[in-house]
Amino acid sequence: MGTRMTLQDIAPLSLPGMESGMPLVIAGPCSAESEQQTLDAARALKAIGVKVFRAGVWKPRTMPGGFEGMGDQALGWLQKVKRETGMMVATEVATVDHVRAALDAGIDILWMGARTSANPFAMQDIADVLHGHEELIVLVKNPVNPDLDLWLGALQRIHNAGITRLGAVHRGFSSAGEHMYRNDPQWHIPFELRRLAPGMTILCDPSHIGGKREFVGPLSQSALDMGFDGLMIESHCNPDQALSDSAQQVTPSVLKDVLEHLVVRSGAPFDDELVLLRQQIDDCDHELLAVLARRMSVAREIGRFKRANNLRVVQPARYQDMIKARIEEGDHLGLSEDFTQRVMQAIHEESVRQQLEL
Ligand code: PEP
Ligand code: MN
Repeated sequence: MGTRMTLQDIAPLSLPGMESGMPLVIAGPCSAESEQQTLDAARALKAIGVKVFRAGVWKPRTMPGGFEGMGDQALGWLQKVKRETGMMVATEVATVDHVRAALDAGIDILWMGARTSANPFAMQDIADVLHGHEELIVLVKNPVNPDLDLWLGALQRIHNAGITRLGAVHRGFSSAGEHMYRNDPQWHIPFELRRLAPGMTILCDPSHIGGKREFVGPLSQSALDMGFDGLMIESHCNPDQALSDSAQQVTPSVLKDVLEHLVVRSGAPFDDELVLLRQQIDDCDHELLAVLARRMSVAREIGRFKRANNLRVVQPARYQDMIKARIEEGDHLGLSEDFTQRVMQAIHEESVRQQLEL
């Protein structure tokens, strides 16, 4: 595809902290909530060696009524962080007005969030106002839905506006149902992005992927092992009181511990075929387990219905039809009759067990 070609020319970002091949670390609270909270976080993060500070000023919330960020006034707090600590500062922009205000405030790094990169109109509007600001550093998070072309298109629009200091941030993808992680990593998508834009800096955001504090360390290590160039991590001095994304923010001292324990291995990024393939197997297994759990919850629902209507738990005719249909379907997908039968029997047995236990 012609439009994919120019992303191949994008060179790696070179930002403070990346000297001698170290991963870039961008850290800071999900949101700038007050001047005090912003400065407290910045000072504590500076003290543990963080050189690029993040904070959301305008927060895109999925549901109305949530905390939507402190808006323009918070840009002043980021300016203060920059002046006082010397850290670079980064914030999310979602509209043309946000971009203008952030540029006026001298914000060093702008990023587009997952809800914005999913919208080509918004991305084009933003790209149009970025024209003439070649010095700016722009990061594009993956869109909420697992669509590589949408991500590429968003990056391409910014690149076409003359921005060469461009990077991507992998923050996982929304998916239905209960999963271990808040956002499904689907690692093969950033790997494919790496193949198409080999020089471009690709960061991982373990906070938004994991959705819980305890996942930040392990996901950060996995990301480095898979060749990501750095991490964007949410950190708040008092995470339990945070106005957004409370469960996934870590204190600066926990972050210090996470960073100190990270092993930075040498080796060409994204080159270890086996690591990549195993990661895809893990992705498949996470999906399988989530689907099985969903199936069991439907089975329990059916169990309650049967009980209320005085029906038997096992209905042999339905069972036979189901197995037969699944074997046929499995055959089309290249699965042997014996395998499909054994798997479906095991699943059915567990459904029956759960229905009997109600
Ligand atoms: C964020 O970084 O706080 C944020 C809103 O992220 P995302 O766009 O990945 O949801
Ligand atoms: Mn957040």
